[in-house]
Amino acid sequence: MATLTAPLTPLKRIPGGSFLIIDATPEDCFFPEDFTGEHRQIAQTALDFAMNEVLPASDAIEAKDFAATRRLLREASELGLTSVDIPEQYGGLEMDKVSSAIVAENIAKQGSFCVIFSAHVCIGTLPLVWYGTPEQKQKYLPKLATGEFIGAYALSESTSGSDALNARTRAVLSADGTTYTLNGEKMWITNAGIADLFTVFAKCLVPGTSDEKLTAFLIERGAPGFSVGPEEHKLGIRGSSTCPLILADCKIPAANLLGEVGKGHRIAFNILNIGRYKLGATVLGAAKLALNQAIGYAKQRKAFGKAICEFGLIQEKLADCATGIFAGEALCYRTIGMIDHALAGVATDNTAEIQRRIEDYAVECSIVKVWASEMYDMVADHVVQIFAGYGYVEEYPAERHYRDSRINRIFEGTNEINRMIVSGWMIKSALSGKLPLMPAIKALMDQVMAGPVAKEDREGPLAAEFDLLASAKKLTLFAAGVATQKYMTGLADQQEVMAALADMIAEVFTMESAILRAERIAGKIATNGSASAAAIPVVLARLYAAGSMDTVELAARKIVSAAAEGDTLRTQMAVLRRLAKHDPADTISLRRAVSAHLVKTGKYAI
Ligand SMILES: Cc1cc2nc3c(=O)[nH]c(=O)nc-3n(C[C@H](O)[C@H](O)[C@H](O)COP(=O)(O)OP(=O)(O)OC[C@H]3O[C@@H](n4cnc5c(N)ncnc54)[C@H](O)[C@@H]3O)c2cc1C
Repeated sequence: MATLTAPLTPLKRIPGGSFLIIDATPEDCFFPEDFTGEHRQIAQTALDFAMNEVLPASDAIEAKDFAATRRLLREASELGLTSVDIPEQYGGLEMDKVSSAIVAENIAKQGSFCVIFSAHVCIGTLPLVWYGTPEQKQKYLPKLATGEFIGAYALSESTSGSDALNARTRAVLSADGTTYTLNGEKMWITNAGIADLFTVFAKCLVPGTSDEKLTAFLIERGAPGFSVGPEEHKLGIRGSSTCPLILADCKIPAANLLGEVGKGHRIAFNILNIGRYKLGATVLGAAKLALNQAIGYAKQRKAFGKAICEFGLIQEKLADCATGIFAGEALCYRTIGMIDHALAGVATDNTAEIQRRIEDYAVECSIVKVWASEMYDMVADHVVQIFAGYGYVEEYPAERHYRDSRINRIFEGTNEINRMIVSGWMIKSALSGKLPLMPAIKALMDQVMAGPVAKEDREGPLAAEFDLLASAKKLTLFAAGVATQKYMTGLADQQEVMAALADMIAEVFTMESAILRAERIAGKIATNGSASAAAIPVVLARLYAAGSMDTVELAARKIVSAAAEGDTLRTQMAVLRRLAKHDPADTISLRRAVSAHLVKTGKYAI
């Protein structure tokens, strides 16, 4: 039996969620600089295909010319791009998760096609890869790999989106055990208008019990009683297909049960972990294109006798986009590298173990989803502003980024739900002892009450940023300590506090990723190349850390102000100020340096 391959860097196995209490080193992490020759080759293949075949077909895609979309999917499959996650024995390439994310990132140059492609290769195919019987895999995976079949995933209903376990669709097994009959509807199903195979979730009676639980089924287009409703008219990703499904006494063979009766929630949620980090990769690809378009425009558009890229307020926007992308790459590939490393050596058919290991990184996956989707929104907004009037009209690319980016905060679990997952998972892990967070919080509380502590003596270009990171970790543990003391087991119901805590946790992970990446690049270049090549990554990490620390401090204030009052509030605010104390960076100069680099190179190229 094949086993999953290990990434080539000597990564240390880092437990999921441990970044708050364990300081990783640059060598522990996987970053884009670690891509192998094979990774770079598949990146180039996907990028060439996206830029030369997909983007030029934008008008047809946006007009919902599904024949053109299908043709593009077939062409992508001829290049192997749709089969990266499919086992070799079923016609796939069976590559690591980093490769799969690299394809997702580089193909993401046209929002609608990106969503169609992602729904097909990820949520439309992976349930079968993980839970299918050998017969089901043999029947469908080779067709999904070649693009002969397009996949879709149908969980949401009109009355249950976030609350997916509350589905109303029902499946009943016939008395002779040969057929399931499904009744109900599904809503917002990506690829519904073009898909051939649907993974549909319905409540089903668990044998030997009176419980009806979520269960997954494979339904082929054309099954009796199965129909697809009209296309939704959407704000963005207009060329993708989004329709309801109608199941009216829909009959399917019992052999089309996917996994076990009553275990559909596992399928639904485990697939979403993958969907979340892949979404992070896709928004990176889209954000890079948007930034590159903005750089090109800012260089040629003149106002007051100058190119607009010479104005500080345009430079600021270009620099913020690049900073977000740099940190996003670090965050996303660090997470996927950890998952690949955790999966190394696991037999490809050991689904339970694969899932257990991926689930270990659920916090990181949710952080990537929330953080990256909001980063792309920021980039799209800046890019519209740089194009200004031309940013608001359809002939130019900015307005489509603005419309297409918005969906990323809604699907794969809304950002509200994912924020609750981040802080909820952390608290659960702390209370269960899975992560030694409680002892860390107690040690920090004892330390801060005992008075000021001397900072560590650090050296190097990012010494101040490592100090900021240490402070951000302390502030997060402090705020978590204050919140748990105040609300105890009722903390989960304090959603605003939980979300502020999630933001702090996400910032710590992202800030650490950006700093470690820059430190690694700087270290490598210091030994092998010119110091100036290291300067921009260092500047980007500095910029990110400065903004991130502001976010962390603001969130900590919000939590402490909600959780304390009177003298306690004053004492805790004094502690907070002490923990957050630092000399501010000159972010104006830093942004100018980044912008000058972008204008000189003409694109984001770190
Ligand atoms: C273009 C598009 C494509 C999609 N593709 C698919 C697909 O292929 N397959 C599929 O199954 N689904 C798909 N969806 C559905 C999508 O996953 C859901 O829209 C999403 O999960 C949110 O569900 P909802 O729209 O019912 O919102 P609701 O769950 O009703 O949420 C409404 C608001 O309340 C918030 N909220 C809900 N519960 C909580 C809570 N506990 N705490 C705090 N806030 C909460 C939400 O964050 C949101 O802001 C798609 C949707 C769109 C728009």
